[in-house]
Amino acid sequence: MTVTDAPRIVTRRLGRPQSWTLASYLEDGGYDGLRKALSMSPEEVHDAVNVANILGRGGAGFEAGRKWGMLAKSTPVYLAINGDESEPATFKDHALIEADPHQLIEGALICAYAVRADQVFLYVRGEFPLGIERLQAALNEAYAYGAVGRDILGSGWSIDIVVHPGAGAYICGEETALLESLEGKRGYPRIKPPFFPAAVGLYGAPTIVNNVETVSNLPWVMLNGGDAFAALGEGRSKGTKVLALSGHVKRPGNYELEFAKASFRDLIYDPALGGGIREDRELKAFIPGGVSSPWLGPDHLDVLLANEKIAEVGTMAGSGAVTVMDEGTCVVRAAWRIVRFFHRESCGQCTPCREGGGWVEKILQRIENGQGRETDLELLLDVCDNISPGVTWPPAQTTICVLGPSIPPAPAAAIKMFRDEFLIHIREGRCPFPPDRLPRSV
Ligand code: NAD
Ligand code: SF4
Repeated sequence: MTVTDAPRIVTRRLGRPQSWTLASYLEDGGYDGLRKALSMSPEEVHDAVNVANILGRGGAGFEAGRKWGMLAKSTPVYLAINGDESEPATFKDHALIEADPHQLIEGALICAYAVRADQVFLYVRGEFPLGIERLQAALNEAYAYGAVGRDILGSGWSIDIVVHPGAGAYICGEETALLESLEGKRGYPRIKPPFFPAAVGLYGAPTIVNNVETVSNLPWVMLNGGDAFAALGEGRSKGTKVLALSGHVKRPGNYELEFAKASFRDLIYDPALGGGIREDRELKAFIPGGVSSPWLGPDHLDVLLANEKIAEVGTMAGSGAVTVMDEGTCVVRAAWRIVRFFHRESCGQCTPCREGGGWVEKILQRIENGQGRETDLELLLDVCDNISPGVTWPPAQTTICVLGPSIPPAPAAAIKMFRDEFLIHIREGRCPFPPDRLPRSV
């Protein structure tokens, strides 16, 4: 058995002709998972999801069934599906929305039934125009088919779903900013704890916010059982995970792999997956779980792809976005670009994020431009430590949301792993890997 033999739970229809249409979905047993759920009580559906132990696929890895169990006991209850995927190099939900919108709708319905929701919102990143178009078309088809709206599939249960496009702010992918945005306000994250959305969410009502990939697993869980899902993977990491592989590999793309059965080496080098580094160059470093995660190097290639295994080496699985950097990458420029993104997307409410991000960006830029000072590395680490003490993950909370603590990991890892390259920039006033010549940079 090879690492690519595991069942593809959420991506198996990707690439099929017209995979986004109802006709194609029904040919593959579409909406049978919902039928099965509706033949059970909401509590039984919830139990199956608890048995499956689906860790949230948006990045934090919080158990979906446990979150559902934390809903405050009042009405109305809202369900918001987070499809605002906007982090650089993260593109797995993008593919699931565009290629399999009915699976997402069915998963959202199963979740809504289990938590007794009164209304569902599908919040989708505004820059996914094709995804929004296909999702809206799929929703129209699902209404016409009787899978959404009144008396769903003759069960007597009714619920409406609304597609809500975002307006281009990365911060609206943070769940409380997403709720503010749904309420028609500026996307400012709310302070949590103590009030998580499950207690005080949309319009102050109990709200479940689940990621696109998380709920896309639910039709399969209903049809195959929570046990079958939990039989895949190991430890806390059950089922499969879609990994968005990008950077200097021969075959970038989304790959769904069983948790804990494949390593980063498999993902990057297997001919059926990443296929190795472009032009057969050497690996320099890779970002394991989205650009806010601390980097790893070639010594960590054999770490298994599972949340706890990745946490053991001091970083995080996050949303499953793996970015590969080859030997020609300028790590100063790579770190600067990551920090620049977070700084520009900061909502500005918290000083460490708003000001600290700008300082880190400026210092990295001047080092990259050959104008750095010997004292800059310690200054950078000091500012990073002020944004996120210890630069650990999960971070000590100095800010309202985790965008602020997402700034330090890239520069801190780059300095720790490649201090010599920073010093060449500073002492020789030049970048050893300028972008206009190979080897390339990210
Ligand atoms: P979090 O740990 O605060 O929360 C995770 C989820 O569990 C949330 O839905 C939260 O409401 C819920 N939760 C946690 N404790 C709870 C409690 N006691 N009661 C009720 N609910 C509780 O993490 P977060 O701030 O929501 O997400 C951060 C992660 O998002 C980061 O680690 C990063 O990996 C990821 N991220 C992903 C993207 C992307 O594009 N996919 C972008 C940015 C960040
Ligand atoms: Fe806004 Fe940054 Fe504070 Fe998050 S950490 S609330 S993005 S200022």
